[in-house]
Amino acid sequence: MESASPDLDEEVAAPAQLAVGAHAADPHRVPKPRVYGDLISVDRIDPDAVKVLRRLTRHGYSAYLVGGGVRDLLLGHEPKDFDIATSARPNEVRRLFRNCRIIGRRFRLAHVLFAGGKVIEVATFRRDPALQGPSHVGIGDGGRASELISVNKERGDDADLLIRQDNTFGLPHEDAIRRDFTINGLFYDLERQEVIDYVRGVPDLEAGTVRTIGEPDVRFREDPVRILRAIKFSARLDLGLGSEIYDAMVDQRQELGRSAPPRLFEEILRLLRGGAAHRSIYLAWDLGVLGVVLPELSAFLDDGVDIADLTWGRLSAIDEMRADDRLPSDAVLIAALLYGPLEEALSGAKNPGLAFDEFFDDITERLAVPRRMRDRIRLILAGQRRMDRGRHSGMRRREFFLDAAALFEVRLSAEGREAPDWLLDLSPGGGEDGHAHGHHRQGHGVGRPAYRARHRRRTQG
Ligand code: ATP
Ligand code: MG
Repeated sequence: MESASPDLDEEVAAPAQLAVGAHAADPHRVPKPRVYGDLISVDRIDPDAVKVLRRLTRHGYSAYLVGGGVRDLLLGHEPKDFDIATSARPNEVRRLFRNCRIIGRRFRLAHVLFAGGKVIEVATFRRDPALQGPSHVGIGDGGRASELISVNKERGDDADLLIRQDNTFGLPHEDAIRRDFTINGLFYDLERQEVIDYVRGVPDLEAGTVRTIGEPDVRFREDPVRILRAIKFSARLDLGLGSEIYDAMVDQRQELGRSAPPRLFEEILRLLRGGAAHRSIYLAWDLGVLGVVLPELSAFLDDGVDIADLTWGRLSAIDEMRADDRLPSDAVLIAALLYGPLEEALSGAKNPGLAFDEFFDDITERLAVPRRMRDRIRLILAGQRRMDRGRHSGMRRREFFLDAAALFEVRLSAEGREAPDWLLDLSPGGGEDGHAHGHHRQGHGVGRPAYRARHRRRTQG
């Protein structure tokens, strides 16, 4: 990999200095990025994202592809989405695109809409407002960024670093360093076909490692959800966690209790949806992070290898279904994750309905599980008993039937049990119209049962 400016190292502050702190406070010192040509071929970028980038630059704004899209392209993965950062203000973006909507009330962000419901997110460069700097335009808080601002600029152990709003426009390098991990802080300049690296993300991608931009303890205290994000990237992209970040994740894990519950819940769902649910939850457990966000599951896993194995098996089954493009619905994912401790809580309970509610009351307080999902999980669980006994035909027309069947498939896979014919028949092309009820995020219904793939893997191992 070739750097177009290999002689600039001295001028590029080390990430620790770039981070929010005294060193980064000099507004006149714009660090020089490392620039890499030829790492990304344009034809792998979504054509609509290309259109947005071109129109912005044609009108004199700077605009880059940023974040996860650049990271995934560099890793050879298909990006989930293509986000753009630009010098244009949200209103200026709207003037350029008819199919554009500004989201967020006080914090604003532009969504450019394309056919098929595709959304290209266009955000104005912003920076950590705790940084001193040249005059800037404050744009209020709210929206996704309801999170950013250091309440206390001291970095001492007791300082409250939790970021509560992110409301200040900035320069490209400021936008890069307020991001979470070096692998997520890269910009791609379409016109020049260059990757612009202010944070040493390219070397970290090459080394296969997740590193925070700046000091991990500080960055995790600013926004503890980043701990879950580090787990997600490590597990999903098979990247290592160096001792520095690993120790900080362990040390700061209690801070997760300060994050907004809906954000925690969404991030847990992302751990389950990403194709590496097993690895993600295992890593969270190993780090002691699961003990903070889902202590009931963590304690259950601590109790014994045999029962824990079933949980790991269910998570592997989810990963296999996702690999088949049949990712189950969120309710099934959460039911599969919590099935062990839930079963334990319900078995022998005099009033299972009450036991279910007690179990979820605690979790809901911590994670804001939506009411609808909780009700759905209740139905899906009740369906399991009937499926176990083969007495589910009365349920077939019920709206939750496919979800119940998906959880049943997950359980069978984990337990190494054969899938019955009726379950196999639900697969697309299996003669059922059931999979047309898709309310799932990606793929739906039950298809090729995961237990086959699992069985194959077991016999290999
Ligand atoms: P995914 O593939 O899961 O979407 P992503 O990296 O694109 O991963 P997003 O949540 O879509 O993650 O966020 C887009 C970008 O915004 C990230 O790449 C990162 O640069 C920045 N970002 C997101 N969340 C945070 C955060 N909590 N703190 C700092 N930067 C963040
Ligand atoms: Mg993304």
